[in-house]
Amino acid sequence: MLVSPAYRPEPRFIDLGPDYSDEVKSADFPQTTLRFRNDRAAAEVGLEGLTDAEWIAAFGRFQPLPGQPGPIAMRYHGHQFRQYNPDLGDGRGFLAAQMRDANGRLLDLGTKGSGQTPWSRNGDGRLTLKGGVREILAAAMLEALGVPTSRAFSLIETGEALERGDEPSPTRSAVLVRLSHSHVRFGTFQRAAYLGRTDQTEALLEHVRSLYHPQIAPGDAPGLLRAVVEASARLTARWIAAGFVHGVLNTDNLNVTGESFDYGPWRFLPHYDPAFTAAYFDQTGLYAFARQPEAVFWNLTQLAGALKPVADGPEGLTEALNSFGPAYIRELRAAFLMRLGVLSLGEAADQRLLDAALALLRENGEAMRWEPLFFDWFGGFASSARALSGPRGKLYQGEAFDAFRFALMEHEPDRIERLEHPMFAAREPEEMLIDEVETIWSAIAADDDWSPLNAKLARLEAARTAWGFRA
Ligand code: AMP
Ligand code: MG
Ligand code: MG
Repeated sequence: MLVSPAYRPEPRFIDLGPDYSDEVKSADFPQTTLRFRNDRAAAEVGLEGLTDAEWIAAFGRFQPLPGQPGPIAMRYHGHQFRQYNPDLGDGRGFLAAQMRDANGRLLDLGTKGSGQTPWSRNGDGRLTLKGGVREILAAAMLEALGVPTSRAFSLIETGEALERGDEPSPTRSAVLVRLSHSHVRFGTFQRAAYLGRTDQTEALLEHVRSLYHPQIAPGDAPGLLRAVVEASARLTARWIAAGFVHGVLNTDNLNVTGESFDYGPWRFLPHYDPAFTAAYFDQTGLYAFARQPEAVFWNLTQLAGALKPVADGPEGLTEALNSFGPAYIRELRAAFLMRLGVLSLGEAADQRLLDAALALLRENGEAMRWEPLFFDWFGGFASSARALSGPRGKLYQGEAFDAFRFALMEHEPDRIERLEHPMFAAREPEEMLIDEVETIWSAIAADDDWSPLNAKLARLEAARTAWGFRA
């Protein structure tokens, strides 16, 4: 197998011992047709040189990569829609490999749809091909928008007919591999606490601290919580600025690095709508767009509770939790500045801009799509006569727009520079960032035509490099 010197295997989760995971085997699939390989991500971990046959052996048959111990299903619990569930764990996935990237970050290759495990409960352990396509698109869009996210690494169609209630049945199957900065979830800590295994909580604390937050002192549970709070606040703010609704913010879907992962029923907002809900099974709107900060905070309180056995009293943990609100507001200002392409002018001016942008989105409701705030308005500034007579001319008038324009003018110097920026030359934002899953999936389902997916990914890649947002 041709791995480059950049391939630096370092399986570490297994160091924790047998109480945290179970050795598993992948399903023996009737078919392994390569549908997507992420060679840019592969190059970051030295795996871009694999032939397609080697790739399929590694990511469709799960023959262990060099230096890797073989698949393990991770154990965890979690709150699902605020109900505690002690029967979770990797039910249709496993940790396939861990390695360092060029920046020294420890990355995981984790699977989705690789077969049943001890944690499958009544599930088949499988992933629909459409689900795989959705995960590829979510990750690529979020990456282009500067959201810290796992990347889709591989998608292989597996030739099974799956029964799923919520879509035309039977439907096609696939196995996905994602590259992510840790799969240690809040629910991994919750499990140790639930079992009363303070030794496990201690071991997890040290595992996560040393590998993912090494700036924190050994044994400093509040310090670790604070690091997770900060990373989660940033992630949440970036979702909001992206107009993204994750859909299922259970404690098993949030990890200790604040990197977004597990894209099931996600959606992007068509327009400002705080109640916009992604998952059809989220009947109360618990994970609606504007409730995501609250949901993440609630999950962090559960992580704090799980850390209590290893903290000296509740004060430090409470203080760490209390940093979420200020961190979130700070990160939201930063995320909007980033997307608007302007530099910070200090907290007060930045806050005025954020407030004005949100007011504008709110007031225009359905008339205004989410993305034009970040793109078209600049055209409006550059040539307001043209903008006023254009199809969205009405939106460029009125008090809310004037206030936004005024706030943006304060940040003028960099704005002018950004008007010349290739990001705006490359813009085709509305097509780029609206959710085109249904169109793309129709082409695959009807004609096995993968070109719309590949075209979309190529455009997102061009946008990602032009925009240059950093996660
Ligand atoms: P999710 O809501 O996708 O994060 O999944 C919640 C839990 O259900 C996790 O433990 C998954 O591994 C498990 N799960 C989801 N779908 C399946 C499936 N088709 N078969 C087995 N387990 C599943
Ligand atoms: Mg999950
Ligand atoms: Mg899922």
